[in-house]
Amino acid sequence: MSPILDIRTLVLIYVGVCIGQAVVLVYLWSVQRNYPPAKDWAIGSLMFAIGLFLFALRNQAPVILTEIVSNLFLLPGLMLFNFGIVKASGRKPSLGLGLAFCTLAIGTLAWFTFGSKNYPAAVLTQNLVFLTLDLYTAYACLQAKTTKGNHTFRILGFLFIVLVLACSWRVAGGVFDLTFSFSPTLPRLFWIATSLISFPMITVLLTLHTSQRLQEEIHAQARHDTLTDAYNRRAFTEFADKEWSRSVRHGYPLSILSVDIDHFKEFNDQHGHQTGDDALVQVSKSAQTSLRSNDIWCRYGGEEFIALLPNTTIDQAMVVAERLRQSVESTTISSSSDTLRVSVSIGVAERSSNHSSLSEVLAISDAALYKAKAAGRNRVVAGGREEQGRLG
Ligand code: GH3
Ligand code: MG
Ligand code: MG
Repeated sequence: MSPILDIRTLVLIYVGVCIGQAVVLVYLWSVQRNYPPAKDWAIGSLMFAIGLFLFALRNQAPVILTEIVSNLFLLPGLMLFNFGIVKASGRKPSLGLGLAFCTLAIGTLAWFTFGSKNYPAAVLTQNLVFLTLDLYTAYACLQAKTTKGNHTFRILGFLFIVLVLACSWRVAGGVFDLTFSFSPTLPRLFWIATSLISFPMITVLLTLHTSQRLQEEIHAQARHDTLTDAYNRRAFTEFADKEWSRSVRHGYPLSILSVDIDHFKEFNDQHGHQTGDDALVQVSKSAQTSLRSNDIWCRYGGEEFIALLPNTTIDQAMVVAERLRQSVESTTISSSSDTLRVSVSIGVAERSSNHSSLSEVLAISDAALYKAKAAGRNRVVAGGREEQGRLG
């Protein structure tokens, strides 16, 4: 064999790549402190690089160091790294179970190395751990729920499948004592080569995933009200345009509730702005319990909210509005001194064939809200029933 392709040289190159990967992932962790998987990738890859370095000292350093201490870093390191990816894919792997698995494997390895002195069995045990961890990670990545057009986890899953195949070949070679006349070490070489190629790719994909996640977070923040976490006006306009087109195209009904907290200025004056903020949060939470998951709940401004109800007639919307009103009325606002309550007035309107835009429907629900206020507040009023034609 050419000295360039000698296994020790390859393992040392692999160690170098792993150290580079660990440096990148530690940096990624430092800028993504609030993302737990980034910590697992960083610590896991660092441990793996240390373990691999000790492993590369085989025949030069004491056996305890190269066979046992190396695995104390290698196996938990790989477990942590892979579990970080599994976490990022949306699952919750059990760290306790993973550690128990690694402890059992290291104990078995120690016994094969020093007890029965069965070296191939020790190598096999180590590879079985790699195989299990990579298989689990491949499964988690391929099953990950991602947004349309985002293939990061699919590519990660594919890379782990390649690693699984390379590792399986090594394990099968050990179990069935397969050798190749032209190259007895081919499965081992293949495994190292695939790892050498896959690991930098995995690091790049993890960096990409983190930046995609950050973008999604920023996008979500830009669409939500910071106090109540309801959609903000901007998001409402986006959703409303879509729902409006869908409703017009298919002739589906579409209704709107304009919701306003009663005497909120007085409430603020009496109990303070902070309690007022708490009330806004509680009202928003309570109101959402009365809505379906595809209804859109938005803080339209100050103490005014809007609910957009797709596929809902005004009669159905009146029922929802009454349920919402009662839900808010029965909600207690936490305050240090008193048990406080607020009420809401609601105006309801439905799209009809003679409306050309959502703002016309909004004007009707606003007018109905005004009527509800004038009639004494804490009530629901249907808007423009007489002038609204049925859906065309
Ligand atoms: P009405 O029953 O007619 O709706 O009376 P109102 O007092 O609720 O209406 P008005 O429009 O006079 O006052 C709205 C109040 O809502 C004034 C403002 O202090 C309060 N408000 C608006 N936004 C916030 C907020 O983010 N936090 C708090 N605490 N109060 C807010
Ligand atoms: Mg008000
Ligand atoms: Mg108002």
